Amino acid sequence: MTTGADALGLGGPGAVVASGDQTWINTVEARGQSGALASLPSDFGPWGGSIAFDNSSSTNWYFGLGTSGLASNQDDFFSVAEHEIGHVLGIGTSQSWLGQSNSLEWNGSYYQNYFDGPKAEAVYGGPVPLSGQTHWDNGTTSNWQLAIMDPNATFGDRRYFTPLDFAGLADIGWEMNNPSTIQFSQSNFILPDGSGNSLVTVTRTGGYAPVTVRYATSDATAKAGIDYSATSGKLAFAFGQTTATIAIPILDNSPPDGDRTFNITLSNSSGSTIVDGVSTVTIHAIPTVTATTLTASATSVTSGQPITFTAAVVARPPDATTPTGSVTFNDGSTTIGTAPLDANGVAMLTTTLSAGQHSIIAVYSGAGSRFSSSTSTVGSTSLVTTGRNAKKRSCGTALRLFPR
Ligand SMILES: [Zn+2]
Repeated sequence: MTTGADALGLGGPGAVVASGDQTWINTVEARGQSGALASLPSDFGPWGGSIAFDNSSSTNWYFGLGTSGLASNQDDFFSVAEHEIGHVLGIGTSQSWLGQSNSLEWNGSYYQNYFDGPKAEAVYGGPVPLSGQTHWDNGTTSNWQLAIMDPNATFGDRRYFTPLDFAGLADIGWEMNNPSTIQFSQSNFILPDGSGNSLVTVTRTGGYAPVTVRYATSDATAKAGIDYSATSGKLAFAFGQTTATIAIPILDNSPPDGDRTFNITLSNSSGSTIVDGVSTVTIHAIPTVTATTLTASATSVTSGQPITFTAAVVARPPDATTPTGSVTFNDGSTTIGTAPLDANGVAMLTTTLSAGQHSIIAVYSGAGSRFSSSTSTVGSTSLVTTGRNAKKRSCGTALRLFPR
């Protein structure tokens, strides 16, 4: 049919004529949804409905299943069908919708109707502006998408029911108990040491109905009260809400003492299934900055004579502890040896060098998340090694001592 006047489709619940006793008529009118029969209906139970689509030459429909062929001058049939099904299900058409769509308020320019169903308000963040009484206002978005019950179609665009559209359906009486799952957004969160109230995210997938879930922290290598504050409570997802966060205080215990972990566990969800209910939180210690200085036992030696290099590694205050790990000694780009730090943070290497110029540096490799690496100044120890003659020269006169 031609729906006329720029309309792509028309849809709504059908009227019905029934005769019989009151129980039968009630069943036809409300399909067992008793709230639909109240004087101010709180529910809706249509017997059916109808949808008409424009078939005039003025509408250039796109009928594809996917959107890859949807051109920018076409109207998407799927999107219009979804919209009209929304009207069949009562959006803009049922008494339980209209009863919540009649709060006229001054919007700054004109008096406008607002929808004040509680679930839609929770999703939208307040009363939802309407276009007339039958659609969300022009351009209404939810979850960063244009709502399907916005009054206008957009060329070349496919839309879906958004959380706001589902919330509207729930407010007019539809049970929205499609199953959802809840889980941590990551199986392991890494939070910097001393980062204060750090957020751990929980996501809800599928389903729109409000759900709750309990959460609690428990020690692993990190200890509550020392490394973090024990945290527990109940997390609530409002209608259509898909993420929620738990704030956990990560304490600052200086000096840092390495990466430590604790667990956070989800339990006892009302209305949702928990998937992988345990996540590990790693408190990532920020490594203490170190400094390495290098000294040599001599600045000039004869080749073949041993020389000792000493690298001392210190932690930057206020960390007064002694770095651990090892130091690599390089002669230019050539490694000449590696030595462990002793209890004083000192590593020593005794070696011999070929004749010539040498520029030695010491590289401390750090210790995991505890101490950062550091390098002595490039060329901080340079020395000249002089060659030895292969033959010993015999010169001078031997001195002999004779007893008298
Ligand atoms: Zn409409």
